[in-house]
Amino acid sequence: MSQEIITLADRVLQVPPSPTLAINAKAKALKAAGEDILNFSVGEPDFDTPQHVCEAGKQAIDDGHTRYTAVPGIPELREAVCMRFKEDHGWNYTPEEIQVCCGGKHGLYNIFQAMLNPGDEVLIPAPYWVSYPPMVQLAGGVPVTVPLDESMDFDLNPETLAAKATDTTRAIFLNSPSNPSGSILSITALKAVAKMALERGWLIVTDDIYETVTYMDGKLPHILDVEPALKEQTVILNGVSKSFAMTGWRIGYSAGPAHLIKAMNKVQSQSTSNPAAPSQYAALAALTGPQDFPGVMKEAFLPRRDFFVKDLESIEGVTCVNPSGAFYVFPNFSAYYGKSFNGTELKNSADMSAYFLNEAKVASVPGVAFGSDDFVRFSFATSMEVIQEGMARIKKALAALEG
Ligand code: PMP
Ligand code: GLU
Repeated sequence: MSQEIITLADRVLQVPPSPTLAINAKAKALKAAGEDILNFSVGEPDFDTPQHVCEAGKQAIDDGHTRYTAVPGIPELREAVCMRFKEDHGWNYTPEEIQVCCGGKHGLYNIFQAMLNPGDEVLIPAPYWVSYPPMVQLAGGVPVTVPLDESMDFDLNPETLAAKATDTTRAIFLNSPSNPSGSILSITALKAVAKMALERGWLIVTDDIYETVTYMDGKLPHILDVEPALKEQTVILNGVSKSFAMTGWRIGYSAGPAHLIKAMNKVQSQSTSNPAAPSQYAALAALTGPQDFPGVMKEAFLPRRDFFVKDLESIEGVTCVNPSGAFYVFPNFSAYYGKSFNGTELKNSADMSAYFLNEAKVASVPGVAFGSDDFVRFSFATSMEVIQEGMARIKKALAALEG
């Protein structure tokens, strides 16, 4: 056994590896080893990147776009982001207020590296996406979770929020539609956030990565529409990973006050330099080309969501909020905690998810990874056949529990 001579940084030791990526890797390895695994773990569209986008990426290589680019991304792409914001939302941004980065995840990382000081608190409504607390911690900040209630469809309760705010609060995450719950924040909740943020000078980090995947009628409520005066203290995080099935291209973008974007560019210039040049040209084709692709995916997701939720709700003791967006279901299995299989008690979401993997060969992500231990997350960005077979296995596994 090798001796560990080099000690590791405390800030790295305090965070776990991304559980979504870890479970996905495990499910893939089991599958490669010949196990009949149904993988509901990772959240990425089960669609190929549109052909015209792939062609633009290939053309960029042929055209010699294989060198460093401007740190915040090529000007054409930043202009295209501004154009999309204007056309889709009526928001006015200039290229100096845009940073293109290596995926949405990287954008969030840059934001917190640029604006947090040690001990600064960041409010994170829970359930939250797995990477939010570690990103804050890696920047020296303190994540403060704000619990959301299943009985309120995971909407934000202004009183709970007020109780968690302190003098050291610097920022708040909004993620609507949410990963993992699929919930959309109400205008009432957004108004309450806006009021507090304006009074206390918080930065609003609105992660809009699922904005094109909504099943609601009408326009998705947004903090900047509810309170346009918040523009100077809001960063919008978005990207092409979910909207154009481009998870592997690694292109995200942020829009915010110019001085914050400038600071984020400093971080980027000292770390990744720029996102991959051919990927930027592919993203340019995505944002400036036909915009029907997200709608095509949504049409495929909708019947899967409807089946999944209905079938989960038909199981005794299981509840599941109907997701208004994104491609996850987040059922509550806590009625089954305390039951046993072959004498081993399932105590929490980690046990439940491990049981599904071992006994039903179904890969999922335990709710504890999202800060809500009563739940387990399943991605429905997979075929209807897989969902039907998965549900049959889940029901059988639950029926086999004793106690
Ligand atoms: N935010 C949320 C809520 C997500 O689910 C994801 C998915 N990975 C991201 C941001 C980042 O996406 P990516 O880095 O793949 O662009
Ligand atoms: N956002 C996806 C998920 O939650 C991708 C994996 C990740 O980056 O966490 O599964």
